[in-house]
Amino acid sequence: MPRTFTRQCPHCTRQATWPDTPTYPFCSERCQLIDLGAWASGEYRVPCESTGDATDLAAIEMPEDTGEDEY
Ligand SMILES: [Zn+2]
Repeated sequence: MPRTFTRQCPHCTRQATWPDTPTYPFCSERCQLIDLGAWASGEYRVPCESTGDATDLAAIEMPEDTGEDEY
């Protein structure tokens, strides 16, 4: 008997089952895309991790979002 897994979709909290749902743990491709979009737009903030040398971090620091809507 094949094993299945059930999880709540992180986006809409519907039940997603694996392997029935290829986008598991998301219930659908739509929720997956929405969630990825949320990450891309900075809705979720990843805690800043100290990885060691502060000067290295300063060298690779990316410009912050200025809030401008011009593209
Ligand atoms: Zn969902």
